[in-house]
Amino acid sequence: MSEERSLNFLEEIVEEDIRNGKNGGRVLTRFPPEPNGYLHIGHAKSICLNFGLALKYNGQTNLRFDDTNPAKEEVEYVDSIKTDVKWLGFEWANELYASDYFDRIYNFAVTLIKKGLAYVDDSSPEEISAQKGTPTEPGTPNAYRSRTIEENLLLFEEMKAGKYPDGAKVLRAKIDLASPNMHLRDPLMYRIKHTHHHRTGNDWCIYPMYDFAHGESDAIEEITHSICTLEFIPHRPLYEWFIEQLELFPSKQYEFARLNMTYTVMSKRKLLQLVEEGHVEDWDDPRMPTISGLRRRGYTPHSIREFCERIGVAKRENMIDVSLLEFCIREDLNKTAWRRMAVLDPIKLVLTDYPADKTEIMFGENNPEVEGGDGGREFPFSNELWIEREDFMEEPPKKFFRLGVGLMVRLKNAYIVKCESFVKDANGNVTEIHCTHIANSKSGGDTSGINVKGTIHWVSVPHAKTAEVRLYDRLFQVEDPSNEDGDFKDYLNPNSLHVIKTAYIEPELAKAELGVGYQFMRKGYFTLDKHSTADKLVFNRTVTLKDGWVKK
Ligand code: ATP
Ligand code: MG
Repeated sequence: MSEERSLNFLEEIVEEDIRNGKNGGRVLTRFPPEPNGYLHIGHAKSICLNFGLALKYNGQTNLRFDDTNPAKEEVEYVDSIKTDVKWLGFEWANELYASDYFDRIYNFAVTLIKKGLAYVDDSSPEEISAQKGTPTEPGTPNAYRSRTIEENLLLFEEMKAGKYPDGAKVLRAKIDLASPNMHLRDPLMYRIKHTHHHRTGNDWCIYPMYDFAHGESDAIEEITHSICTLEFIPHRPLYEWFIEQLELFPSKQYEFARLNMTYTVMSKRKLLQLVEEGHVEDWDDPRMPTISGLRRRGYTPHSIREFCERIGVAKRENMIDVSLLEFCIREDLNKTAWRRMAVLDPIKLVLTDYPADKTEIMFGENNPEVEGGDGGREFPFSNELWIEREDFMEEPPKKFFRLGVGLMVRLKNAYIVKCESFVKDANGNVTEIHCTHIANSKSGGDTSGINVKGTIHWVSVPHAKTAEVRLYDRLFQVEDPSNEDGDFKDYLNPNSLHVIKTAYIEPELAKAELGVGYQFMRKGYFTLDKHSTADKLVFNRTVTLKDGWVKK
């Protein structure tokens, strides 16, 4: 956004730190995705925030894969995450993996054991949970808590060496079983998991827990501002406790409100369900809130960054209306999309007074928003045209400024025509509209003096190319499907995809390129789908020209 805006609370913190010479004025943030799914628009918010802060204050941002949970992580996800971050327009300083720190994190654990601040516990998860107490009652120590340092060192070593099966033992921090903060009641640091890891293979059968890996990774990288979402507020004392006890670089954690958006779900687990159960085509289905889905739908990186900027940085959870995202892409595409004509629900218009063997070349702008024009484009005109069925009415009401017997309309970038009659088939469906044209009304040299209120788009029948066109609606029928009774999937919108098998498009559109936005005049913004081929063009509607949902 060009307008000046006041600083958000994170910018205020960073500026204060710079003023105080903290970390020598250095700013280093990180974006720490767990590679267990594709990134969604919520992650885009976090990416824009982390990279944006660094860019603003001459800092840098690391891309760190938080890959401490081996069962769920896949290389495909790592690749997609890198593609998406780059596509959004950001460059990371270093590509890092928490798994690269497994040796160091293990040594940190040994250090804490040696300080008497960690112990090996043989209890089951249920026992541990029961012994932890409740927010109003303190926990009770078990016998394992008083194991000697030597015993703990040996057992932890054996855990690492693979002597015990999954779940047989855990390593816990020895903090305070009576702490009002449940996260400080001897939290788990390591668990046994005999699982192959996508980077470290079978080197490890013990893996650090999030709380013990995240802050330590931040500290190893000397991250200055570690930004996460609000649910980590109660984890902050633990984040700080580990760093203090280990005397590591004092990275600091700051929390902001996660992005929630209407008519969708924003959790990788739920998005994975939609993919696996076939409710959508894949992670990049154009209805998905994933970055890859939005890209395939025709969203631009600029529009997503603009959206993230406009919603700002909040300290309290809220729900952002998806129409704001749609507003941002409309605004962007209005400036950049190439105007083209396409007829989605065709009916034939015949000009009875125009020579059947004649073709005229008409001219139109590519984008009227481009100052000084942009060269424009040409397209053929003939006596048979496809127009939208909805632009004709057998019995037009008073203020219908399109076609009906006796009514006149301008054909975009061509002539004014007058409807004389129409043809019906045996079932009573209108099949053809017959018109005459005003010969001296051609756009650019109109001397007819006739003023008409309506302009409609068209495509010449003998010259038209065909395409499949996919129209999308909200993926869910309710604003917050995660907050309804029952399963969130019960609220899927059964009409979220409408496929038009054969639309007629102007010849120029056959040259459409992937990643380019086109405005189908009066019909919305469209982009070529990744499955489109020269033989079968497929377009996705990115968004309608106006917000149609307000009325519904
Ligand atoms: P999900 O719940 O969708 O699986 P996650 O938080 O588990 O998301 P991570 O890969 O751990 O996903 O997230 C990487 C970063 O993105 C974290 O810093 C996380 O806080 C941030 N993030 C995730 N979801 C959102 C969101 N909806 N809004 C803002 N930031 C988010
Ligand atoms: Mg996570």
